[in-house]
Amino acid sequence: MQIISENKLQSLIIMNDENKTTVPEEKTSLNFIHQIIEDDISSGKNQGRVHTRFPPEPNGYLHIGHAKSICLNFGTARKYNGLANLRFDDTNPVKEDTEYVDSIMEDVRWLGFDWDDRLYYASDYFDQLYDWAVKIIKEGNAYVDDLNAEQISEYRGTVTRAGKESPFRTRTVEENLDLFARMKDGEFPDGSKVLRAKVDMAHPNMLMRDPIMYRILHTDHHRTGDKWCIYPMYDYAHGQSDYLEGITHSICTLEFEVHRPLYEWYLAQVAEGDYRPRQIEFARLNLTYTVMSKRKLLQLVNEKVVTGWDDPRMPTICGLRRRGFTPESLRNFADTIGIAKRDQTIDVALLEFCVREDLNKRSNRVMTVLNPVKLILDNYPENQVEELEAVNNPEDQEKGYRKVQFSKELYIEREDFQENPTGKFFRLKPGGEVRLKYGYIIKCEDIVKDNEGNITEIHCTYQDDTRSGRPNSNKKVKGTLHWVSVAHAVPVEVRLYDRLFATETPENVEEGHDFKENINPDSLKVITAYAESSVLSAKAGDRFQFERLGYFCVDTDTNDSNIVFNRTVALKDTWTKSEKA
Ligand code: ATP
Ligand code: MG
Repeated sequence: MQIISENKLQSLIIMNDENKTTVPEEKTSLNFIHQIIEDDISSGKNQGRVHTRFPPEPNGYLHIGHAKSICLNFGTARKYNGLANLRFDDTNPVKEDTEYVDSIMEDVRWLGFDWDDRLYYASDYFDQLYDWAVKIIKEGNAYVDDLNAEQISEYRGTVTRAGKESPFRTRTVEENLDLFARMKDGEFPDGSKVLRAKVDMAHPNMLMRDPIMYRILHTDHHRTGDKWCIYPMYDYAHGQSDYLEGITHSICTLEFEVHRPLYEWYLAQVAEGDYRPRQIEFARLNLTYTVMSKRKLLQLVNEKVVTGWDDPRMPTICGLRRRGFTPESLRNFADTIGIAKRDQTIDVALLEFCVREDLNKRSNRVMTVLNPVKLILDNYPENQVEELEAVNNPEDQEKGYRKVQFSKELYIEREDFQENPTGKFFRLKPGGEVRLKYGYIIKCEDIVKDNEGNITEIHCTYQDDTRSGRPNSNKKVKGTLHWVSVAHAVPVEVRLYDRLFATETPENVEEGHDFKENINPDSLKVITAYAESSVLSAKAGDRFQFERLGYFCVDTDTNDSNIVFNRTVALKDTWTKSEKA
């Protein structure tokens, strides 16, 4: 397993003169899929058309792995002036639901892609797929089998042992046609019969040993209702759907590599002319500290380990959105990691790096104190309030300035003061000087403690001539602290999210253990913090940098009486060992 780290990424990203990141030469060379496409275009294959599709099964919410696939499919179409379809692969009515259909459409659009009028469902093709199955039966290449699931698997043999032919394999075409029609008409119970392709029970590829094409399922479908009680298997439906939509490059993940001969076998039964979609496999995305399997994500939701699919700790697109990730950061992440032919696990720090980089450019700064201690300026006039000018975003002058109220009593972070500092501590200490951001230099004169020895007040003096625009404004001190005015601060709820899992590969568990044992017990801490009053106008979804702390996004739970912020990511990676120490 190859883990790609943030250090590696940083070495791949270089800064150009405008302070914008550019990608070095080696990264701009074509990935292997684009190489195939360019070769196809130059050889005139498919008249130079490029047409891809993103084919989710509507049985769960999309996650960051799907985002990679979406960026690849839609991004490739965009790059080559082609088209990309959204197709719901809805061949399994048992697990599928319109709730998932809706969320998938929302997520693809949010990522910045559009299928225009090319929204399809595999279930749109059920009639055609049935007709083709009849054709395959008529040509002697499919048969109705009465073996049950257990027998079928036993007859299939093993990798080292050839399979055995079913006694029903020799049924006549007439008998097969009759039984298949009666399967469709609902005469037989679930599991009593299947339609199988007649390929080769000794084939070295187990998937080619007479694969199942249709099974009986007396279950209503979210789109076709009770019209069907037989449903096509994924392998049979998928390539034919690609063919019907004129897909040229059918991009899927590596586990389908062994399915490719079957994909091609089915196409050979039904396709006319020269055109065939081509299946190309790439490595799925795995992330450290992250569980990506839909089944496990569903388990986290059902067992209420998280609050829902959009819990900001989930790797789902809706979870990442609620956490404060931007579509640009996800697209940039997908580009940065590129396309691989072999399985790899990407360090989640890379994803965090991408969102930090993007939010640094686009989010306004505000001052918020998470863990307050009171700081009193003894020589500051009692009822004076000044409005200090604060820059909204040093990365973007166009974002302008705002006013922040300053007064005699302030909150600063408790961690920014140490009574007996050791080593290099450039923040506030007895007798020490720091600058208050956008304001004055102050000096610590005294502290007040309660009976338990906790510091309750820090008393300082301020230096009136050190504010911007005044004679001593250039005076240098080592530390600068953020602060809020006690009388003007707005109490807000802050949800400090951290990684959901405490171990690097949470899905790797020993026999008898559950992946949920790897949950990080500190993945969420809810606190009340004090923000500068400018946050009063913030709306759900707005993103900010809390100065010196990290990036935060206004949660959808925000209402008139309570502003809620989710921490998207801290300013620095606190997980790498060097910084933890
Ligand atoms: P399931 O176990 O339900 O099949 P799935 O994750 O494969 O889960 P699909 O809805 O079939 O879900 O996936 C839609 C598309 O997204 C497929 O083309 C699939 O290959 C791709 N995809 C899924 N997971 C990843 C991943 N981790 N990395 C990249 N692509 C992925
Ligand atoms: Mg799948």
